[in-house]
Amino acid sequence: MAERLQKVMAQAGVASRRASEKLIADGHVTVNGKTVTELGTKVEPSDHVEVNGAPLEGQEKLVYYLLNKPRGVITAVKDDKDRQTVIDVLADVRERVYPVGRLDYDTTGALLLTNDGELANQLMHPRYKIDKVYIAKVKGVPTNDELKTLRLGVVVAGKKTAEARADITKLDKKKGTATIQLTIHEGRYHQVKEMLKAVGHPVIKLHRERYGMLDVNDLLSGEYRELRYEEVQQLK
Ligand code: URA
Repeated sequence: MAERLQKVMAQAGVASRRASEKLIADGHVTVNGKTVTELGTKVEPSDHVEVNGAPLEGQEKLVYYLLNKPRGVITAVKDDKDRQTVIDVLADVRERVYPVGRLDYDTTGALLLTNDGELANQLMHPRYKIDKVYIAKVKGVPTNDELKTLRLGVVVAGKKTAEARADITKLDKKKGTATIQLTIHEGRYHQVKEMLKAVGHPVIKLHRERYGMLDVNDLLSGEYRELRYEEVQQLK
């Protein structure tokens, strides 16, 4: 149930309601990362409130991590087959973060993890067209026509994919493979593998190099880092 911000603050022991109102009006209070000065503001229990940068008692600080996901790790909080999860990889993170979207078990690369539910939902919403840049090693060498088809959209699970960028970046003629950089902004199930299969070039290896403006070029496999304040603001 939504409650007035000053009431929630007072109940959390920040200050009296009157003193909480002054803290709000003076710009010391943020709700989900945005400063709120309006006294009538109502908040839900799921909203994240901070006063001078400190979360209310009982609320976790909002944290954001970029992981270079290794192969053989499942993008889930828990696995019923007891496989290693991305949460196991973030061993020293105490907050209860969860992955934003997913990468397959055998896919490596950029994965964002956070406990900021609002931002996670926003980023995963199809309307929010965040660029995802994939490097895919595929069987065979796509022709110019096949690249064009990838760019304009292929039918995957009965629905055409949105416009994408697709370019060959490397060829291994001896092995008969090519490396393709594919930029998409949707997040459908096995999308990259399905798109490439649809044009006759199954994926051998898949890496997500970039998620929005976040790349993992400086992170070794399994390494992670906290996002900088400006990076979080840019994602919002
Ligand atoms: N597309 C895929 O097919 N797999 C991934 O892990 C990510 C995008």
